[in-house]
Amino acid sequence: MYTLRKNLSNIPGWRTNRKIVVIESDDWGSVRTRSKKDYDEMLAKGLEVNRSNFTKYDALESNDDLEQLFDVLSKHKDSTGRHPVLTPMCVVANPDFEKIKASGFQVYHYENFVDTCNCYPNHNRVLDLWRKGIKDRLFVPALHGREHLSVSRWMKLLQENNEGLRIAFDHESWGVSRYKGKEISEYLGAFHPDHASDIPDLVKIIESAGELFKENCGYAPTHFIAPNRESAKALDETFGKIGVKYLTMAKLRHYPLGDDKYKSEFLWLGKQNKELNQLYITRNCGFEPSSSTIDWVNSCINEIVIAFKWRKPAVISSHRVNYIGSINPNNAKQGLNELNRLLSEIIKNWPEVEFMTSTELGEIIALTKK
Ligand SMILES: [Zn+2]
Repeated sequence: MYTLRKNLSNIPGWRTNRKIVVIESDDWGSVRTRSKKDYDEMLAKGLEVNRSNFTKYDALESNDDLEQLFDVLSKHKDSTGRHPVLTPMCVVANPDFEKIKASGFQVYHYENFVDTCNCYPNHNRVLDLWRKGIKDRLFVPALHGREHLSVSRWMKLLQENNEGLRIAFDHESWGVSRYKGKEISEYLGAFHPDHASDIPDLVKIIESAGELFKENCGYAPTHFIAPNRESAKALDETFGKIGVKYLTMAKLRHYPLGDDKYKSEFLWLGKQNKELNQLYITRNCGFEPSSSTIDWVNSCINEIVIAFKWRKPAVISSHRVNYIGSINPNNAKQGLNELNRLLSEIIKNWPEVEFMTSTELGEIIALTKK
């Protein structure tokens, strides 16, 4: 049943005889769990950070995390003689925890993620490494948002004195969804409005995200994926204004209008939104070795077989959490070993493979539409 569904979902959309592999990796630039010490303390206080691999292992990427990732990518070459490339979906800011606290949780403040890096122990070269990744075409950032949370929902929960969230706040961490057996309501979907009247604030957040992204990366973002929950369709235009031409989305886009109203539309690889000329990219493979002990190399290779059978590029989802070692060094070690093995297997199975960024894939599709 699963294989049948996988095959069917690969049928619609743009086709090619080329063997193209895109690796999209969400969450770079964002804080999650600050450190092993914070993890242990939060757990002891009743925050169920042990329930998800994200709160267990994911943290702001360190110098070492990036260098080790680049080492693995640099070991391999594709049919064009170039190294495999990752498209990290990046946020460019984090909350300024001190200023928010000083305001009595009344006013939200954020800081460039570079300033967050300066408060972490092994992170002083993270921006330089991002830029090196861009220059060497190993790690070419796209946009995942300004900060990885809904400012309005998170601030509201803090103002309501949500105990679990306040504890996480004191540890400058987030992502935890349960406290002492009780669910904490969702707050990570940054562009998912509660009310239609939230849209103007989200527009401003996107505009400032575009500016910060450009300052950090040296170019405007051309590709976007929303964090955690679907973004409002009304925001596509603003993304277009800051430079976004390509959007990664689910095949069934169930987008919020605000006030608990939703609409749906089917998307496929290469579908164009006529009004704004943006192209949609859909993912068809997963590689998340940090999440469970299944053989992720094998399952991802099987998904790539299906994608190529239908003459589709393989667009792999592989979150940052798989490559982070500051909380548990074994997590990064295992993730990088598996990535190394995946890249070897891909190149062995398909010597003609071409690794690309999401934007490069978008550009190729856009050319065939002209
Ligand atoms: Zn994310």
